[in-house]
Amino acid sequence: MKVERDKVVLFHYRLRDEAGVEIEDSRGRAPLAILFGHGNIIRGLEQALAGRAAGDRFEVVVPPEQGYGARRADYTQRVPKKYFPASDHLRPGMAVTLATDHGPRTVTVLKVGSSVVDVDLNHPMAGKTLHFAIEITAVRDAEPEELAHGHVHGAGGHEH
Ligand code: ZN
Repeated sequence: MKVERDKVVLFHYRLRDEAGVEIEDSRGRAPLAILFGHGNIIRGLEQALAGRAAGDRFEVVVPPEQGYGARRADYTQRVPKKYFPASDHLRPGMAVTLATDHGPRTVTVLKVGSSVVDVDLNHPMAGKTLHFAIEITAVRDAEPEELAHGHVHGAGGHEH
């Protein structure tokens, strides 16, 4: 079965930056499960999966414009401390995920005040060229409920 729109794709990935420094490795946990063609993952990676099959291993280089976008200068905001989980432990440089009206959002702490925190709203991987090593472990048809939700249910997908 080939990867195409409305198929569920399970895959392991190793992500490195341009300098070869490892950012993430999915091995040791369940493979990531995505519903293909629904924008579950960055565009460059989704495009590279098209037409592949279970057992395929390949590498793909994703430029920022196909990944998390360019890094924007001065894309900062002052946020009340109450919105931060564990606000006593905030330090500059930390990546923190905040709950927003548009879903979870990862920001980087710039400066911690007594009641407010200045954060950089750029995604931590914005502006980076991403080097992925992919191994597809399975491709299957999606369940009707998964198609209705636009994401995969169960291991590697949404648990709800
Ligand atoms: Zn769902």
